[in-house]
Amino acid sequence: MYKIMTPGPVQVPENVRLARSRSTTNADLDPVFYDEYKELCELISSLLHTSNETLILSGEGILGLEAACATLTEPGDKVLVLDNGIYGAGFADFVSMYGGEPTLYTTNYLNEIDVDELTAYLEKHHDFKYATVVHCDTPSGVLNDVHKICPLLKSYGILTVVDSVSGMFGNPLDIEKGQLDVVCGGSQKAVSAPPGLTFVTVSDDAKKAMENRKVPVASFYCNLNIFKDYYKKQWFPYTMPISDIYGLAAAMENIKNDTELYARHHRIAKAVRKAIQAAGLENHLQSGFSDTVTVFNVPEGIHADDILEHMQRKHHIMLSGSFGNLAGKVIRIGHMGANANEADMTATMAALEETLNYLGWESEESLLSSFVKYLNH
Ligand SMILES: *Cc1c(COP(=O)(O)O)cnc(C)c1O
Repeated sequence: MYKIMTPGPVQVPENVRLARSRSTTNADLDPVFYDEYKELCELISSLLHTSNETLILSGEGILGLEAACATLTEPGDKVLVLDNGIYGAGFADFVSMYGGEPTLYTTNYLNEIDVDELTAYLEKHHDFKYATVVHCDTPSGVLNDVHKICPLLKSYGILTVVDSVSGMFGNPLDIEKGQLDVVCGGSQKAVSAPPGLTFVTVSDDAKKAMENRKVPVASFYCNLNIFKDYYKKQWFPYTMPISDIYGLAAAMENIKNDTELYARHHRIAKAVRKAIQAAGLENHLQSGFSDTVTVFNVPEGIHADDILEHMQRKHHIMLSGSFGNLAGKVIRIGHMGANANEADMTATMAALEETLNYLGWESEESLLSSFVKYLNH
């Protein structure tokens, strides 16, 4: 058994696991389940500060991203893809796949998107149907200020698709205030349920664009329109994964009842980052630090795989490497959701310090004592 301190999937609390073992009904036929599904969708919307409709789909995070693009994109549509990370750039593939024409707005991968620079760009280029943006781009951990970026795009009539799979419920997200149109989440990040579900929240503006399209969506599973009036009709387009949904409901209740959620994430993230620095390690980013994941550069002379392997074998703790251009170069610590607690993070920092020392690296200040010190101020 490992303690999974990765940036998703994260640890799953016992009450979420137990909820998944509830006895089940026929999810297609039982009106009670339609009520439970709809109430859970409404709870998710309210936790994201909106009355926009949320739909829960049967598939993990990626399905939500693809469904958003599939349902919004008509052949020839111009789409602005904000790109300062691997998931950011990845949206261009979904846009092209459904016949859209992506324009990449690529900025430095070590920093959050600069809103002033984006403002200047948009003054000259704003002929887009929608834009995609990643809230927290998990491979580097960079956090974008979607509450500033989305209203700016909206002022040009550009709809937004926001991937907040690893951002929401670790960093605050307010859909109404930020005027976000389509927002994608997943069950296995800060939500702290097992992987398997994605949910998508859709504004009235986005819904209009989706419903008034001239060309049918070239997909069934990725077509959000197939859920239209599901409650009134008491009809789901496919059989809902009822046990996964019971687990998600318990996870969302945990979030609702957690009054310290964002303060705790922030305190832990800040302490990890400062401890990394005090120890003489290097935070990977220059700006845009998320409260859900910390990414540091692998010190010279040490291999990422050796760190990960020793952490698992000796300490039974899983951390992550990364992928794409970051493969082998960084280590990622996921302190989101159920992972964001002092006990697990203290154990992780102690284990990481022992591991780095074992591999021949010498810390400036103790990683563990710095973490404990910074937790408390
Ligand atoms: C995890 C994640 C996803 C979804 O990927 P999965 O295949 O479900 O793990 C999408 N976007 C971001 C930014 C993520 O971190």
